[in-house]
Amino acid sequence: MNSNQPYETLDPQDWEKMRTLAHQMIDDSIDYLADVAERPVWQPVPEAVAATFKTPVPDQPADPAEVYDEFLTNIFPYSMGTIHPRFWAWYMGNGTIMGALADLMASVMNPNMGGGNHAASLVEIQVLNWMKQVTGFPEEASGLLVSGGSMANLVGLTIARNTLAGVDVRRQGIQSMAKKLTVYASTEVHSSNQKAVELLGLGSDCLRKIPVNADYTINLQALRDSIDQDLRSGFQPICIIATSGTVNTGAIDDLPAIADLCDEYGIWFHVDGAIGAIAMLSDTVREQLTGIERAHSIALDLHKWMHVPFEAGCVLVRDEKAHHDSFALTPEYLLKAERGLASGPAWFSEYGIQLSRSFRALKVWMTLKEHGTQRLGRMISRNVDQAQYLGQLIENSANLELIAPIGLDIVCYRFNPGDKSEEALNDLNREILLELQEQGIAAPSSTILSDRYCIRVAIANHRSRYEDFDVLVETAIRIGHSILA
Ligand SMILES: *Cc1c(COP(=O)(O)O)cnc(C)c1O
Repeated sequence: MNSNQPYETLDPQDWEKMRTLAHQMIDDSIDYLADVAERPVWQPVPEAVAATFKTPVPDQPADPAEVYDEFLTNIFPYSMGTIHPRFWAWYMGNGTIMGALADLMASVMNPNMGGGNHAASLVEIQVLNWMKQVTGFPEEASGLLVSGGSMANLVGLTIARNTLAGVDVRRQGIQSMAKKLTVYASTEVHSSNQKAVELLGLGSDCLRKIPVNADYTINLQALRDSIDQDLRSGFQPICIIATSGTVNTGAIDDLPAIADLCDEYGIWFHVDGAIGAIAMLSDTVREQLTGIERAHSIALDLHKWMHVPFEAGCVLVRDEKAHHDSFALTPEYLLKAERGLASGPAWFSEYGIQLSRSFRALKVWMTLKEHGTQRLGRMISRNVDQAQYLGQLIENSANLELIAPIGLDIVCYRFNPGDKSEEALNDLNREILLELQEQGIAAPSSTILSDRYCIRVAIANHRSRYEDFDVLVETAIRIGHSILA
């Protein structure tokens, strides 16, 4: 061994150079966010830039500063736009600088949140306890931080299936069931629930999609009829999925009525609250969510309306034992100890699918500490108010029309000059949306409601100002007329 050569590891050869670079990254991050409103919300990645991602896997080391330079040139300028005050597409949060810094610190510590006795486990336990407090869940309930609402729904529905199947599904599989299991949700249910039902081996035919009322909430009579019909036909109903904040229009299903139905039929009450559950923080919305505390399981998304950087979702489960029974599997190499590293209360790997897990709890913990529930709640209340403000602008303008009742913070509307066929209106509004995005002005997304294409504005955005909606409406009308001309 040549003692003149530095011992090779993946650490920087020069820590002081790395310190300088790291400081530069932080400075760039802060400038990036502080100036975000001045930049276009979105711009396409130029072809020449896209071409740089076709190089083969690097086989030699490079200077970290050069690697970072490449990031600055080819990646940083072409963000999705979620950080911008006029980003209202799909349903996303903005993130925060503290959330991003928490991710940095979490990665620096690099714990594996599968389990073990270390401070990070205590952080996740505390975050889960806070989420129980926010939703009115009992202290003995269990939970898990997950990648997002999709995973939270999958975990919740897995426990529902395993608990109510009437056979030992983990051992015998769904093959052993005499009756087919059925799950109920409205036609507005998020696709992640269907994926979960498919993954659980039940088949999407067994997810009964119940019609909705004019306000896009589940029709309770149709729901009851469907369950009764299935019981008569020899199916075994196991779960109703209520949505608190549907993705299309922000509708909140009648949670107390669904809780009653689940009690009556002895089935699992799962709430997909990826959009709305965290609005329990808002003094103006909380009442609409009454009944959520009666759920057997709730899916929450913290990277949406709580603005924790992606990924951060949460599932809460009323029956800790049912939760543990669905996922715990302890091979000899994961044995726990009374003392030492393998002791400790939190074996998160026994409550979900992942073994190795990131320390996403830190960004949630820091976000809640930095802002507190009241300020986070005010951000939610303001978005709801901004949705009403936008609704007023639409109603006051001759060429715009609302396509659905405004639920929570979601507004669906279209440009309608009055003399066009439905098909022409769909084409026209599709083009308006593309122009809004391509001109970098605003980024709503779209949906289709009763065959009508509409521009969908989902305002989970702590940076949006009321003026931003004036800009949206003025520009959409101007673009509409210029396309017609
Ligand atoms: C976004 C969303 C999901 C999926 O959550 P992810 O965080 O994207 O995995 C599920 N349900 C609803 C109602 C949603 O809006």
